Amino acid sequence: MRRYLRDLLLGSWSILLALKVTLRYLFTPAITTQYPEEHRFQPLRTLNRHILTIEEGTGKLKCTACDACARICPTRCIELTGAGKGKDRRAATFFIDHNLCMYCNLCVEVCPFDAITMWTRIGELGAYARSGLVYDQPTMTADRFYPTPMTPERPQGAGKVASA
Ligand code: SF4
Ligand code: SF4
Repeated sequence: MRRYLRDLLLGSWSILLALKVTLRYLFTPAITTQYPEEHRFQPLRTLNRHILTIEEGTGKLKCTACDACARICPTRCIELTGAGKGKDRRAATFFIDHNLCMYCNLCVEVCPFDAITMWTRIGELGAYARSGLVYDQPTMTADRFYPTPMTPERPQGAGKVASA
């Protein structure tokens, strides 16, 4: 009988200890982000979907189709072609297959023209088919300023800073 009562007391005590933790968290403010209504803040250097940057003023792609990014990409998920010669050479087609991309950022680091960035805060990449994760040049072409390693802030006098 004494053993039974002792076990009963020990069991009740352990339940109370467990409830203590539960009650403590019950009155602690929730840290859950109510996605998609709420979005977590992403620091500037968060790596997300690629964007091909444009020259401020002219709106032209900075990419000269030098192929450095495609050659360094460890998963070979970049394919591009160029058109034009000399200073006028630009990318004619540019594809990145995000089914393969491992977000290593090497393509950005190797680019000599600051022409591609992953500091885009575009991280919602859902698609119904794998083909939906292959992004082409029009999809990736910037329509406004995007920060890059060389230009983390918009150059002075060039309008509003990107809010994404
Ligand atoms: S982030 Fe890495 S894996 Fe993705 S496209 Fe760039 S180099 Fe390739
Ligand atoms: S994004 Fe940069 S590294 Fe890639 S082809 Fe264009 S200029 Fe070259």
